[in-house]
Amino acid sequence: MKPTGAARIAGVVGDPIAHSLSPSLMSAWIEAAGINAVYTPYRVESEQAEAFFRVLARTNCAGLNVTLPHKQTALAASDDASKAARAIGAANLLTFRDGRIHADNTDAAGFLNALRAGGVDPSRGPALILGAGGAARAILYALVEAGAPEIRLSNRSRANATAMAADLAPGVRIHDWERRDEALAGVALIVNATSLGLSGSGDLVFDWSRAPADAVVADSVYKPLETGFLRDAAARGLKTIHGLGMLIGQARPSFEAFYGVSPPESVAAEDYLVSLLEASR
Ligand code: NDP
Repeated sequence: MKPTGAARIAGVVGDPIAHSLSPSLMSAWIEAAGINAVYTPYRVESEQAEAFFRVLARTNCAGLNVTLPHKQTALAASDDASKAARAIGAANLLTFRDGRIHADNTDAAGFLNALRAGGVDPSRGPALILGAGGAARAILYALVEAGAPEIRLSNRSRANATAMAADLAPGVRIHDWERRDEALAGVALIVNATSLGLSGSGDLVFDWSRAPADAVVADSVYKPLETGFLRDAAARGLKTIHGLGMLIGQARPSFEAFYGVSPPESVAAEDYLVSLLEASR
C-alpha cells in the first residue's frame, strides 16, 4: 500500500548513507507485509548526530538504524540501553517512545543468526576473530554469549585488540597480526571483522593450509560478496559464510521493533540483496 499521513516511520542514519542496502531491504519487506510504513535513509554529519536523535525521538518516528560513524554517539545519546549495546559500546538500533531513546545492538544477534542459518554451531570449537573495531566487538560479544569454548583475537593494532578483550572477554588470547597464521591451529571458526576485503581495499591473506579441514570461514564484509579471503578459503575446501547474512540478521529484529510485525518470509532477502549488489557493480 502507499503510505498515508498515518504511516509508521523509521530509517537509517549514517555518513555516507547512499551505499546502504537497508532502505531497499526494509522497503521490500514493507511492501510484502502490506503495512502503512516508510523507511528513510538520512545522511547526518557527526556534529549533528546527537541533536538529530533527540529531535526525531520527539516526532512520530518509531526509531532508527545507525551505521558508521554514529554507533557510539547513538549509545551515548540514549536514555537507556540493552545489555548488548552497553557491553559492545555501540548501538545500531534506536527506538523512540514518549520522547525517550532506547539503544540496542542487533549486530551481535545478526552474526549468530547468520552462523546458525549456515548450519554452524558457534560453540563447536575455538574461534579466531580478526579485527578490533565495531564489527569485531559485536562478534566477540556474540561468541562469548553463544558459549564459544575458546576465542583468539588478532588485529593490526595490538593495543586495540587488548582494549577490546579487556572490555568484553579478558580471557581471550591475542595473536600478533604478522603471525596470525599460527592462530589457525585447531580452530573451528575464523571471522574477518576487519575492513580488509572491502571493494578498493587490499585482501586479507592467510596460509589456509594451517586451518583444519572442517573449519568454517565467515566474513563481515559483503561488498564484494565473495572477498579474496572467502575465495581462498573456499579454494582450500573450507565452508564459507559471506557478510550479507549478518546484515539481514541485524535487520530482522530492527524491522520488528519499528513496525511490530516480522519481515515476511516471502521476500528472498539474500537473493534480493545479491541482485542489488550485482546491479551496482
Ligand atoms: P572499524 O573502522 O570500527 O574497524 C576496522 C577494523 O579493520 C579494525 O580492526 C582495523 O584495525 C582493521 N583494518 C583496517 N584497515 C586495515 C588494514 N589495512 N590492515 C589490517 N587491518 C585493517 O570498522 P567496523 O568494525 O565497523 O567494520 C569492519 C567491516 O565490517 C567493514 O567492512 C564493514 O562493512 C563490515 N560490517 C559488516 C556488517 C554486516 O552486517 N555484515 C556490520 C558492521 C560492519 P586497527 O584497529 O589496527 O585500525
